[in-house]
This record gives sequence, structure tokens and C-alpha cells, in this order.
Amino acid sequence: MKNKISVVGAGNVGATTAELIARDGFADVVLYDVHEGIAKGKALDISEACSLWSSPVSVIGTASFIDTADSDIIIITAGFPRKPGMSRDDLLHANAGVIKEVTEGTVRQSPNSIIIVVTNPMDVMAYTALQVSGFDHRRVIGMGGVLDSARFRTFVSLELGISPQDIDALVLGGHGDQMVPLPRFTTVKGIPITELLHANDVNRIIERTRSGGAEIVGLLKTGSAFYAPAAATVQMVRAILFDERRLLPCSAYLDGEYGIAGLFVGVPVVLGGKGVEKIIALELTKDEKSIFDRSVTAVRTMIDMLKSS
Ligand code: NAD
Repeated sequence: MKNKISVVGAGNVGATTAELIARDGFADVVLYDVHEGIAKGKALDISEACSLWSSPVSVIGTASFIDTADSDIIIITAGFPRKPGMSRDDLLHANAGVIKEVTEGTVRQSPNSIIIVVTNPMDVMAYTALQVSGFDHRRVIGMGGVLDSARFRTFVSLELGISPQDIDALVLGGHGDQMVPLPRFTTVKGIPITELLHANDVNRIIERTRSGGAEIVGLLKTGSAFYAPAAATVQMVRAILFDERRLLPCSAYLDGEYGIAGLFVGVPVVLGGKGVEKIIALELTKDEKSIFDRSVTAVRTMIDMLKSS
């Protein structure tokens, strides 16, 4: 039987994710959007490209949850972008409403699926998807750390003139300005970057990683990054679908790990066929822990704001 993946939200990230999956040809894709024409038009365009890619999968666009039935994975990218005059608080509430609606609609059709949440503020939206779905918490995962770590790897690669293939990076914490890039666990073929770069250069790269999303928004003027976010999402999809048991930084529900319970935060996890197979608990230094805690507080504050509304 063919694998089936539903991508909810046919905007930049959703459509590009659908395109990558279709191009790789490892699952049929359903592209869902509240704007039916956008979902249908982009899906048709991608399916016409499939013949050129020699990809055997089907790609359909829809505004009906019924078409998403029996999906193995649901990827949620639907949401509103932040508009001028809109506070983060407004965005939080607007997107929580979208996540509630699409989670209810999709899990009814695919009760055994695994959900990957991309919509921002991602850690909070993953929490909302978990609450609404009633799924086991290992089956709801947020995408953030894979992207942030890819950005960190890119900037280290540019600085050192070494292929990013040979660079491993780790970024933990909430997926936002307060993320926690960890140079101690960022290595070039096993050599910590702290041995290859001056502390000032490492700090500069960390700051660029933290504002990696904003740098692209500033250049694009409208919209935000989508190529690397889609590629990061597909890496997670493959890990789950092919039970790869990859060690990836993902936003996972913590139940006491890192001294935190009841929140989604970016941590290293083993990602496989059951979703989050294991959470790797790292012993953080005092400094790392204090940055991590600050980032966790930012996530907790947003969840409290949602709960109190
Ligand atoms: P976009 O505006 O291009 O697309 C969003 C899509 O969601 C639109 O097509 C819109 O019609 C659809 N949508 C809105 N409400 C809906 C509903 N109720 N049901 C179904 N579809 C609905 O945005 P984008 O660039 O694709 O980004 C999508 C989200 O992903 C944003 O929240 C963005 O901030 C986030 N994002 C997260 C990461 C990450 O690392 N986690 C990276 C990039 C983007």
C-alpha cells in the first residue's frame, strides 16, 4: 500500500513541502487549504511536474477533510502571517483557532496518523494540536530545531569554508528569538567548533542563527522562509515514514525531562515510526541551562496567555 501524507495549508511552506515529497515520490500527497482553488491549482501544477520527475505518486488539492482520510502523516502549515498592526498575541490566538479547526478536521479522518506542526508560534501550536487531537504525545511533533540547526550548519560552513555535510549542529529550546544554539555540541567531523573558531565568531554565528528567519523576512519584504523549512519538514517525514530512528532536534512534549512537564520544547529526540521514540536528556552547563530556561519561559508565557483567554 502506498503511503499517504496530507499537507494542511497550501501556502509557501505547505506547497513546497508537497512538492518535495512528490518529487521524491515516496507518498501520495493531499494538499488541503481553506482556499480550495489555491490547493487544487498548486496540486495540479505539482502533479503535472510528477510526469517530468518520473514520480509515480498522486497529488490532489482539496478543501474537504474527507480527502485526507487514512493519512500516515499530517503536516500542519496552515495559519495567518503576522500583519502590520497585529501583535504576537493576536497572531497567537488567530493561529490557535486555525490549528484547532484543522486538527479536529484531520484527526477525525486519520486517527492513527502522526502530526508534524510547522505553524508559528510552533511550540505553542504543537501543544494546541496535542490537546485537540487527544493523541499520545509521541505522535505530535513540532518542526523547528531541524531548520534552526540547518541554518547554524550553513553559517558555520560559510565561516570555515567546509562543506555543511561535515558539520553537525544542535539548536534546542523554543523555536523563536530565544532559541538555544549549542556550540559545545556543534562539531566539524567531531571537532567542536569552539576549537576551530574564535569565541566572537561563534557568538556572531549564534546571533545570525537566532535571527535567521528575520534575515529572510527582511530580504523578501513579503512572506517568510519556505525552502529550508519545507526541506527540514521532509527530513522529519522520512524519519517517521521509514522508521529511520534519526536523532533530530524537534519540539517534543516534555513530561519531566529537562525538569519541564506539560510543554513542547525543542530537544534532541530519536524520531522513528512511532513518532518521538526517545528524548535524549543532555546535561546542560549552568550557562546553557539559563538560556534554555529563558527560552522555555517564553513558550510557557504564550501557553498561559492562550489558557487565560
Ligand atoms: P502562507 O501564508 O504562505 O500559507 C499559509 C496558508 O494557510 C495559506 O494558504 C492559507 O490560505 C492557509 N490557511 C489559513 N487558514 C486556514 C485554515 N483555517 N484552514 C486551512 N488553511 C488555512 O504561510 P507560509 O509561509 O506557508 O507559513 C506557514 C506557517 O508556517 C506560518 O505560521 C509560518 O510562520 C510558519 N513557519 C514555521 C517555520 C518553523 O520553523 N516552524 C518555518 C517557516 C514558516
